[in-house]
Amino acid sequence: MKIVLFDIDGTLIKAGGAGGRALDKVIKDMFGVEHACDKVSWQGCTDKENFSLVFKYASGKKPSARQFREMELQYLNLLPAEVKRSIRSGNYSRLNGAEKFLAKLSGRRDVLVGLGTGNLKDGAFIKLEPSGLLKHFAFGGYGCDSRHRSEVLEKAVERAGRLAGVKISPREVFVIGDTHRDVEAAKEAGYHSAAVLEGFGDRRLIMRSNPELLAKDFSRLKPWLIWLGLEKDPKGVRRGTYICPDSPIEHAHYGRTGLDLRDIELGMKRLREARKKVKGRGK
Ligand SMILES: [Mg+2]
Repeated sequence: MKIVLFDIDGTLIKAGGAGGRALDKVIKDMFGVEHACDKVSWQGCTDKENFSLVFKYASGKKPSARQFREMELQYLNLLPAEVKRSIRSGNYSRLNGAEKFLAKLSGRRDVLVGLGTGNLKDGAFIKLEPSGLLKHFAFGGYGCDSRHRSEVLEKAVERAGRLAGVKISPREVFVIGDTHRDVEAAKEAGYHSAAVLEGFGDRRLIMRSNPELLAKDFSRLKPWLIWLGLEKDPKGVRRGTYICPDSPIEHAHYGRTGLDLRDIELGMKRLREARKKVKGRGK
């Protein structure tokens, strides 16, 4: 059984800043502070972290459990209207190929597709609903499960295990996100990791986090299916495009030793050049 966990914002959809606007309004109502979300770096964080960050920015204090609950309720009240506003202004979109990829995966009996998102559970559904992608997800880990992304992912895997009635090994879990935080969380939990570059992540930070697979989006499915081990790689391991390791440990090994086609091609070219030189001398 393979478990594939998708992040939402920047990975499956772009909700046109709906979450940020809703949270900004909550903070404005509470403290009169405007545009609090612009002042904190929150891409790829869980909602629990985000709420604490902006609350602290606006009030100088950490929110109490009651204040936290209040923020969550206000946020979830405001979010649907903000998502609608994004749709109306043409700022709500799906990532290229996401629908095709999900349809392909959820049609397989050996794959369980779930969410691994920092969004609160209700927030995740509100944001995903208009995309038509929600039907592909039977379970997930959410921002309300933990403030730590790796624990959110572990929670999703726990639920997948219960759903499938089997114990899931970490090497059967594949995490797809759009920021280095998704990749780092996956690694922390011992799962496979991949990232799309069309989302909200910082490209340099993503590269540094070293996911097993990097792709613009899901418009070309072949590399994704090879990474998931659902299709065979006809050309073997190729660094710089994609690699197809059996485990995160193998990934680290290939990443460092990197015997791949490009090395072999370069070696052959040098050999041919050296041979030409030797022949030339013999004449
Ligand atoms: Mg994201």
